[in-house]
Amino acid sequence: MSSRIDLHCHSTASDGTLTPAELVRAGAAAGLDVMAITDHDTTGGWAAAEAARPAGLRLVRGAELSCRWHGVQPSISLHLLAYLFDPAEPALAEAMRHLRTDREQRGERIVEKLRADGVPITWDEVHGYAAGGSVGRPHIAQALIRAGLVASTTEAFASAWLGARYFVPKIDLDVFEAIAAVRAAGGVPVFAHPRATKRGRVVPDELIVELADAGLFGLEADHEDHSPAERAEIRSLADRLGLVVTGSSDFHGTHKTVQLGAFVTAPEVFEKIAAAATGVTVLG
Ligand code: AMP
Ligand code: FE
Ligand code: FE
Ligand code: ZN
Repeated sequence: MSSRIDLHCHSTASDGTLTPAELVRAGAAAGLDVMAITDHDTTGGWAAAEAARPAGLRLVRGAELSCRWHGVQPSISLHLLAYLFDPAEPALAEAMRHLRTDREQRGERIVEKLRADGVPITWDEVHGYAAGGSVGRPHIAQALIRAGLVASTTEAFASAWLGARYFVPKIDLDVFEAIAAVRAAGGVPVFAHPRATKRGRVVPDELIVELADAGLFGLEADHEDHSPAERAEIRSLADRLGLVVTGSSDFHGTHKTVQLGAFVTAPEVFEKIAAAATGVTVLG
């Protein structure tokens, strides 16, 4: 039996636009057999996703961690997907709490910069869009769209706006420490969209070799931000290093155009991820 597996999806617990309950229902409606909830720096959507999980949909509890590699100057940010870790493990939980607190302060600073230039948005508005979840630039983009200054989230990320002019860095986890923390919590770390050049500089293969030695389990190859050539490069690097490759939509609701299940992960890869985890089990 074929199985449709999407291992990277966001809800309103971070910068997605569907609630966790709506997300799992949409996953089932899209014909997914397995879906992961991977909000930025939080497990805040897990309980609601679990409670609403439709029969027949298997749910992988995860998160996408904001990380940074300090091996070059200036350092490079990257995202680490973490699956099936114990959410109560103190070091990882505390690290995520720290990231979320900084996201709030940084969001407020971006809004202040915009307001200093006369842009009519407020932190209250932006904070309201985040609705208690991890605050991200897509929430500020939402305020810029509401104010009629840009037409889309993509436009809000242009260099005239959140991409450069009003960019404020956020705190990130050292990527080696993040991999160690995920493993210590019984989780499985996978490097999200490692070649996504449109988001900024990407790390060299030499770093990925080191990350594999440090406990990285896989690379996300099939992702809308990768060209076919980049996907092939990632596959061959993963083969060489003994890493699995995943594919996923990185669904964000209406903050992006990509649909659930637009890219999927092979069943045997999913089984390897589930077997490698000792934090929490796959539901369903
Ligand atoms: P932040 O985590 O606050 O730095 O915001 C980054 C988030 O914004 C990512 O997780 C994506 O959801 C979204 N994003 C990043 N780059 C773009 C882009 N060029 N266009 C639209 N959304 C983007
Ligand atoms: Fe996002
Ligand atoms: Fe990401
Ligand atoms: Zn993501």
